[in-house]
Amino acid sequence: MGILVQKFGGTSLTDHERRERALFHIRKGKEKGYDLVVVVSAMGRKGDPYATDTLLSLLEDGEIPPREKDLLMSTGEVISAAVMSGALWKEGLPNTILLGGQAGILTNDRFGNALITDLRPERVRKELEEGKIVIVPGFQGMTLDGEITTLGRGGSDTTATAIGVALGAEYVDIFTDVEGIMTADPRIVREARPIDVMTYTEVANLAHLGAKVIHPRAVEIAMQKNIPIRVRSTFGEGEGTLITSLTEVNRSLAEVKDRIVTGVTQVPHITQVKVRAERGEFDLQLRVFKAMAEHGISVDFINVSPSGVVYTVYEHEGERTRKILAEMGYEPELLPGCAKVSVVGAGIAGTPGVMAKIVEALVEEEIRILQSADSHTTIWVLVKLEDMNRAVRAIHRKFHLNE
Ligand code: ADP
Ligand code: MG
Repeated sequence: MGILVQKFGGTSLTDHERRERALFHIRKGKEKGYDLVVVVSAMGRKGDPYATDTLLSLLEDGEIPPREKDLLMSTGEVISAAVMSGALWKEGLPNTILLGGQAGILTNDRFGNALITDLRPERVRKELEEGKIVIVPGFQGMTLDGEITTLGRGGSDTTATAIGVALGAEYVDIFTDVEGIMTADPRIVREARPIDVMTYTEVANLAHLGAKVIHPRAVEIAMQKNIPIRVRSTFGEGEGTLITSLTEVNRSLAEVKDRIVTGVTQVPHITQVKVRAERGEFDLQLRVFKAMAEHGISVDFINVSPSGVVYTVYEHEGERTRKILAEMGYEPELLPGCAKVSVVGAGIAGTPGVMAKIVEALVEEEIRILQSADSHTTIWVLVKLEDMNRAVRAIHRKFHLNE
């Protein structure tokens, strides 16, 4: 029988009752005959005693060297792992905990946002062969020198898929508090519904464009070795959303091409930046984007025309952006308080009229489009933040995503 990786998110582990639900899925995996690796996040959300943000708030003025900060941040998952271990022993299920480094997750030394450089799963494999469930605290890795690192936000998803890839798992199951990946954030669109099957690219796009249900890096890692992911609910028994290759998606439903739009997502707190080419200089774009890159400001939504450039930055980088441009002698126009609404779908490519339909949906709601752009699987529009939720709902309705 194969290997199954099960990852439980913070909201699935908050209290005894929820952990019972997680245990149900672990037992079920065992009953099906899988060798199990269980990856756990820190318990709960900010305010809960051992959640990552709560641990960070213990630092009085927040100042601590990055190495020590990672050590603090990594403890939430360790507590979670030990609690789950105890619960499994109580059920008579033999198990062992392997910390990130012990599980063979090697990273570089970029503390706080370390990248996995190598995976050496021999020890995990050995414990599995001895019939044990292996519990791995998510979100953490280790450098070659033995320093503990953390993998950045959503890092436990990455732990799960990286281990899944290293072991050639049959599935990586991401257990969370929603039924699967939905057509829109259920906190914004009440009638959003779970999607049965999606391609890696669709999900990675959706995640990069704001859907916080799974980390894009986790999806990209699984995609390298074609390891299927299922995003599913801890609190139900549904299979959730299967994430797999385009070939598999096409095999499992004839739908993917008819399904032009898969989902709608949003990123709030964006600032639009306009720089005019007053003096008609034609190296304007080059100068502007070089300066942004040099200062590590990530830019997006770039429109270039002979009269200037328009692009977006995160709102918290707005003032820094203005200063940099001013120092270069430009007089940029900044529009804070924007949001980026994105429409994602593998079927957008080659389907005419998708943009027209989006425009129609927004015009009907009297929402102004400040900027727009597209690639072959995505269309973006920039709107005012106060219009964001209405825009997401209008587009969701227009494409009948609730049906
Ligand atoms: P976990 O603690 O399990 O990692 P997360 O909070 O990271 O949970 O992810 C689940 C949450 O993602 C959901 O509760 C939901 O509010 C949010 N979410 C945002 N966009 C989507 C979407 N398109 N589909 C499903 N959930 C989404
Ligand atoms: Mg998460």
